Amino acid sequence: MATYIVLLGPPGVGKGTQAKILSEKTGLAHISSGDLFRENLKNETDLGKLAKSYMDKGELVPDDVTIAMIKDRLSRADCKAGAILDGFPRTPVQADALQKLLVSLNGDVNVVPFITADPKILIERLSGRWTCKAQGHIYNEKFNPPKVAGKCDIDGSELYQRDDDKAETVTNRIKVYLEQTTPLIDYYRAQKKLIEIDGMQPIEKVTDKLLSAIKN
Ligand code: ADP
Ligand code: AMP
Repeated sequence: MATYIVLLGPPGVGKGTQAKILSEKTGLAHISSGDLFRENLKNETDLGKLAKSYMDKGELVPDDVTIAMIKDRLSRADCKAGAILDGFPRTPVQADALQKLLVSLNGDVNVVPFITADPKILIERLSGRWTCKAQGHIYNEKFNPPKVAGKCDIDGSELYQRDDDKAETVTNRIKVYLEQTTPLIDYYRAQKKLIEIDGMQPIEKVTDKLLSAIKN
């Protein structure tokens, strides 16, 4: 049976950072709905154009298109053993859709690490976030700087700052998270899948906690 891990937590808490590391360590595919939208945006697809109008405001892209995109992604060969989901689901409708979809893929959500952090630190983390253009490796100018400013340590590609990491959009993204995504905490707690992880610790410590949560 395939293994599916859902990383839950507010914007900036470290989901993308940890999903990349966990994917390398477990061999499970890393699926980031935000990355998929940004890829569509870069390729100027219809989905990308639609998503941009929501992403620019820090709003959620409608459930139906988001679910269709994830369904397509999870059906690919590299997800056969399962996946680490980062940024999806973000609403109860998406969570229900995922559950149904995984039944058809002969799987289930196994564990939901819920990464937490002080809200004040989230804004600081997002405003200092730099992402690599080639493969999405994530840095922070204060907490996790690259060896050479503006260059990815791993693949040497250029680093950029996301448009939606500017202060006004970040504030709305956190509000949207509180209003639309936090119901998933109780949703997965009721299923006994939620494991709280303190995201205020250094990156390596958070990874250790996540790995032991996954193993158990
Ligand atoms: P998310 O995917 O949850 O939005 P990211 O993984 O992109 O969050 O991380 C947001 C920012 O915080 C990045 O700049 C990243 O380098 C930094 N970061 C991630 N985890 C930690 C941590 N444990 N301590 C300090 N900074 C972190
Ligand atoms: P992220 O990369 O996870 O920070 O997501 C960036 C933006 O993409 C969000 O602010 C939303 O506009 C959009 N997005 C990502 N994932 C989802 C999702 N599961 N549902 C709806 N919109 C999403």
